[in-house]
Amino acid sequence: MKYLYPIEFSKDGKRKYYFGETDIDEKGVVRVGTCKEDKCAHDTPTEASDCYRQYLLDNEWVLKGGNIEPRKCCIKKCANMTTQIACLGDSIEYALCDEHRNKATVKTIGWGFVLNLRN
Ligand SMILES: [Zn+2]
Ligand SMILES: [Zn+2]
Repeated sequence: MKYLYPIEFSKDGKRKYYFGETDIDEKGVVRVGTCKEDKCAHDTPTEASDCYRQYLLDNEWVLKGGNIEPRKCCIKKCANMTTQIACLGDSIEYALCDEHRNKATVKTIGWGFVLNLRN
């Protein structure tokens, strides 16, 4: 089981963060997304999360649809039903109506500290 979340490290005596994938015991941590390529050192966990989300939006944004049961758009104040899903990477999915199925909207949807589980 793999987890994706901001990883703390220290650089020049300061507390910094990058976004990484790791086992729950944090052995074998690897940097992911832009944090991998640029050797990021973010000031906050949120910054590291946003860095990875932007990477997913730029590189792993996939629209799927048509074959799911109609469900409510995942934007809280939206009452529209949808059968369309926007995916970030291979495991993050958002049910979004036509109005909200765009990158600008997904950028505003928060995610939890532990982003998701991977096999
Ligand atoms: Zn980064
Ligand atoms: Zn909507």
